[in-house]
Amino acid sequence: MPSYIVLLGPPGAGKGTQAQVLSEKLGLVHISSGDIFRENLQAQTELGVRAQAFMNRGELVPDDLTIAMIRERLSRPDCQQGAILDGFPRTPAQADALSGILSQLGGKVDVVPYISVPAAVLIERLSGRWTCRAAGHVFHEKYNPPKVAGVCDFDGSELYQRDDDKAETVARRIQVYTDQTAPLIDYYQKRHLLAQIDGTQDIETVGQHLLDAVKQQR
Ligand code: AMP
Repeated sequence: MPSYIVLLGPPGAGKGTQAQVLSEKLGLVHISSGDIFRENLQAQTELGVRAQAFMNRGELVPDDLTIAMIRERLSRPDCQQGAILDGFPRTPAQADALSGILSQLGGKVDVVPYISVPAAVLIERLSGRWTCRAAGHVFHEKYNPPKVAGVCDFDGSELYQRDDDKAETVARRIQVYTDQTAPLIDYYQKRHLLAQIDGTQDIETVGQHLLDAVKQQR
């Protein structure tokens, strides 16, 4: 049976960083809804053009567009063993849709590690974050610097600061998270799927707790 893991947490909690590590350790694909939107934006596809204004304001792309995109992604052959979802779902309606999609695929959400980090820490993390152009690998100028400034350790591509990691948009994204996504903590807790992890610890420690949580619940 396929294994699906949903990483929950505010923007800047470290979901992307941890999802990459977990993906290698478990041999499951890493699906980042934000990365898919950014790729579509760069390629100026119809989806990218429709998502652009919402992303630039730090708001959520409407559920219907987002759900259709994830449905398509999860139905590809590389998801046959399951997937690690990073950034989706972000609303209870998306979470309901996800369980419908997964049941059609013969699976279900197995565990929802929730990486918790206080808002003050998030602002500092997001505004110091640098992302690689080629594959979305993330670094932090202070907490997780690349070996060579401005260059991705993994693929040598250029690092850039995402438009929505600039100070004005960061505050909006955290507010949107609190209003629209934080209700998922309760949603998954009620379904006995939540595993809370303290995201203020160093990257390796968070990764170890995450792996423990996944192994316990799968
Ligand atoms: P992220 O890289 O996860 O921070 O996502 C960047 C932006 O993409 C978000 O601020 C939203 O505008 C959009 N986005 C990503 N995932 C979702 C989602 N599940 N629902 C709605 N919008 C999303």
